Formats: sequence, structure tokens, C-alpha cells
Amino acid sequence: MSVKILTVVGARPQFIKAAAVSRAIRETDGLAEVMIHTGQHFDANMSDLFFEELSIPKPKHHLDINGGGHGDMTGRMLMAIEPILLAEKPDWVVVYGDTNSTLAGSLAAAKLHIPVAHVEAGLRSFNRRMPEELNRIVTDHLSTLHFCPTATAIANLAAEGVTEGVHHVGDVMYDATMFALEKAETGSGILAELQLEPGQYALATVHRAENTDDPERLRDVVKFLLEQARGRTVVLPLHPRTRHAAARLGVSLDGLRIIEPVGYLDMAKLLHHATEVYTDSGGLQKEAYFHRVPCVTLRDETEWTETVASGWNRLWKGPVKSVRRDINEYGTGRAAHDVVRLLGSCAPR
Ligand code: UDP
Repeated sequence: MSVKILTVVGARPQFIKAAAVSRAIRETDGLAEVMIHTGQHFDANMSDLFFEELSIPKPKHHLDINGGGHGDMTGRMLMAIEPILLAEKPDWVVVYGDTNSTLAGSLAAAKLHIPVAHVEAGLRSFNRRMPEELNRIVTDHLSTLHFCPTATAIANLAAEGVTEGVHHVGDVMYDATMFALEKAETGSGILAELQLEPGQYALATVHRAENTDDPERLRDVVKFLLEQARGRTVVLPLHPRTRHAAARLGVSLDGLRIIEPVGYLDMAKLLHHATEVYTDSGGLQKEAYFHRVPCVTLRDETEWTETVASGWNRLWKGPVKSVRRDINEYGTGRAAHDVVRLLGSCAPR
């Protein structure tokens, strides 16, 4: 009998992570996957494009839930996910990262006594004002299997008393980068389209509530980016939340090269040929390292502390390190296969 995995995704970084695991599931005998897309991210270039480019099968269940406050969105997701879990009766519910979709998926499953597996478990910023931090903590404490990308993540879980079912598998985003790298070099025409020369521009992304929701903070971030843009192009694929916040708060983005959010292959190409990355994204901090591009993180702390310790990343107000070293913890591009092997071998029945 095959092990039935029910995957809950909803936001862009989750499509990227789930793509790697979903591919490994399809390559493994005895496992079957059903996917729920909560609808948290819904724009074509934040959702559909990723399913196409990363060859993710169309989700069986699309909830179309987005907008509203955190409680509203999470509550509607819980209500919609519960009957699906009752009907599908999966062996595992697999959730990714730290969004409201992660929280709703794990809580709905745990309440029905369906075991939860958390991919990217154990990350902590130790800043409970971040909605992501709360989602991660609750999800980790509801999960049976914890797939950790780093040794720090394992130590964070241990400090909270979570030691069972904890596995250091590496980072499934590294698998995704490996998948995209070659395809992007030949398949993406983004540099020509934007008339950019390799090595002649920097790349930025900004989307976290802590940067977009506070006018003073958003102005500070934009000021920093504009300083970097003196004499050089800074390309900013603009997240819808940031676009709305800048318009609402009257923050001008003139001086930055604003483009629409791009697909994963265009992003890989842009990243690969950038001189530097400025970002508040968790995923991009690591991807910058995967592409060996130095990164400045537009936050006061990071969950990916090894990127800073290795000298490849620094906090925007933190010290500059001159020596860089490699990071070994992210694995060899086979993290998704380890996740799938463990889901198969630890299945509860
Ligand atoms: N990304 C992308 N297109 C963009 C901006 C980001 O494909 O226009 C990718 C990026 O390469 C990374 C992921 O989206 O893999 C990061 O997502 P996001 O910054 O939304 O979330 P976080 O990583 O902070 O959870």
C-alpha cells in the first residue's frame, strides 16, 4: 500500500520548496501526493508561473483564500482544510516554512491526529513580532517529523525540548537552485529583456511586513537601496505588498529599476549575474550564497546565521567581514530525496 502525502502550500517560496520534494516523491515508488494550494499568493507571476516552470502537478484542491488579517486568513484556511483532510485521509501532512498556510495546515492536521512533517523546521529569528516566527514555533511543536536545513535549526529545536523526529536533511532550496541553474542559463532571456550586462547591476527584494508596514522603516530601506544605486543599477522585482505599501505611504521608488515579480528561472539568472544582493527574504539570502553572490540582509536579525558567520551575508547594520568560507550544512542538492525517504520509512502504518 502506498504512503499518501498531503502537501499544503500557498506562498511563492513554498512552491519552490515543494517542487523539489514533489519531484522526489514522483521519483520514488510507494508514495503518492495530493496537494492543497491555499491561494495565499494568487497573482499569475507569484503562483501559476512557478507551477509551470518547476513542473509541479496542478493542485487537486485550490482554496482561493487570500487577503484579510492574519486571524481571518488563517481561520478561513483551517475551515477549508479540515474537511479535505477528513476526506483524503493522508498518512502525512507536509508543510513548508513559516506562512499562514503552514500554520493552518499543521494545526488542522494535528487536531485530526494526522502526523505533520515540517520542511524547514527549527529556524528562529527570536523576534516574536514577526508573524513568521509565531507560525514556525507553533508548527514545530505540532510536528512529528522535523526536516532541518542546518545544525543551528536542530539546536534551536533542542533548546525548546524538541528532540524526537528531528533530521538534518539540508536545504531543499539548494535542490531547487541546482534544478534551475542550467535551465535558467539557456532558458531565461531576462538580461537581454532588461538590457542588463552580467556583473553590472545589483539585485534587491523587499517584502517583509516589518519593512513594508512601518513608513519610517520603509523609507530607511529605500534610502539604503538608493545609496547603493548611485552609479549602478539596482533591480527590484517589486512584491505586491511593497508596491501597495509604497503607494499608500507615499514612498517614492524613483532611482531603482522597478520590475514586476519574475519567475524562478529569471530570478536565478538575475541572481547569478548580480554583483550583490540586498534583501529581506529568507530564501534569497541563501540563494545568493548558492550563486556565490555577496548579500546584505535588510533586517536586524536573520534565521540563516551561517550565511553571516561564513562572510557571504551581513545584516545591513552589522559589521562587514572580509573573509568568506564555504557553508557545508545545506547538503548536496539531495535534501528532498532525504525528506521523501524519511516520509516513506517513518510512515505511521
Ligand atoms: N523569487 C522569485 N521571483 C521574484 C522574487 C523572489 O522567484 O520576483 C524567489 C526567490 O528566488 C526565492 C523565493 O522567491 O527563491 C523567496 O520568496 P520570498 O522572498 O517571497 O519569501 P521568503 O524566502 O522570505 O520566505
